[in-house]
Amino acid sequence: MTKKDLGFNPKPLYNVGQQEFKMAPRGRPWVDTPDELWNSWIWQQQNRVRRMDHLEACVDVTQEERDAFDKSSELFNMAVTPYYASLMDPLNPDCPIRLQSVPKMGELTIAPGEMEDPLGEETDMPVPGITHRYPDRVLFYTTHHCPVFCRHCTRKRKVADPSSAAQKQQIEEGIAYIKRTPSIRDVVISGGDPLSNSDERLDYIMGSLRAIPHVEVFRLGTRNLVTLPHRITDDFVRIIKKHAPMYVHTHFNHPLECTAEAFEACLKIAEAGIPINNQMVLLKGVNEEPELVKKLNHMLLMMRVRPYYIFQCDMSQGISHFRTPISTGLNIIEHLRGHTSGMAVPHFVVDAPGGGGKIPLLPEYVKSHVGNRWVLRNYKNKEYIYED
Ligand code: SF4
Repeated sequence: MTKKDLGFNPKPLYNVGQQEFKMAPRGRPWVDTPDELWNSWIWQQQNRVRRMDHLEACVDVTQEERDAFDKSSELFNMAVTPYYASLMDPLNPDCPIRLQSVPKMGELTIAPGEMEDPLGEETDMPVPGITHRYPDRVLFYTTHHCPVFCRHCTRKRKVADPSSAAQKQQIEEGIAYIKRTPSIRDVVISGGDPLSNSDERLDYIMGSLRAIPHVEVFRLGTRNLVTLPHRITDDFVRIIKKHAPMYVHTHFNHPLECTAEAFEACLKIAEAGIPINNQMVLLKGVNEEPELVKKLNHMLLMMRVRPYYIFQCDMSQGISHFRTPISTGLNIIEHLRGHTSGMAVPHFVVDAPGGGGKIPLLPEYVKSHVGNRWVLRNYKNKEYIYED
């Protein structure tokens, strides 16, 4: 372990108002792990929970989890950082952290309409590793590795297959494509999780993109803030600050994920002047309760993270057990809008199957519209007339 890896030393506790953000407890296997190892993102990556005996050391494994692990490992491996595994309830298989990271039998079912590539990301691919659907922006896949393989992942087809990971040649071709396409002003650096790249590689990719005159902003899509906050070292922050303007898009799904470690990671990024947006995925058993989403969004705002999207679960194969009806998302928005500040109300969107893009959905606030007379209702269901 080099000294450089150890640039993460969270405070044990953050307080904002009456809200406490506490450090994650250490799971059973790691109670005696020294802090200098625990706080290293490389150690966390090297010691991920990948096998059944690892999982048995952390939690009381149920027969269903055991069967699902055996049957799903060919389709989509299990991998969980010790940090994220420590957030699991060892006694409750329905714990929201456990649901997101331990295989369930539902993964073996392919429901009608489910697809391997529901967003059609492979179809608008002018060169390997670039999805270019809209004129001014591209998705740039820089790795297919993630600290935790989220069971609801929409890119299982890539994340599960290490042989599909971007090699240096592919990265170069991606940069060259962006360079020769002047309409591109916004690059979403994605994966897998791009923070699985080394600092040196990220510095090279972002530096190459920043040198292209028509590239204005990057978005860095990462779940490391949730699953491996130790990745946000001082060196990493120096690199992203150097290549700003940049936005970090992350993926908190539950208040249990809002720890002191996650707070510290978000704080470092925010203090570097880089805004953070959250993209929650609506998941049955994890976050379909409106009050829970409100609590999550309030905690995120305290962590300097703006709740940005709530995604309806995609039509990816093997995740029907996570999918909620559209009405669940509309119900959440109904309970947020007007009942808390607008900053805590994200957009509820369906990413249209087949590559149709994000379609925002709202509860019905227009009661009627005749000529220039609009009858609108507010969050208390009171009607108001607006004349155009
Ligand atoms: S971090 Fe993102 S890409 Fe990686 S497994 Fe989770 S959802 Fe999929």
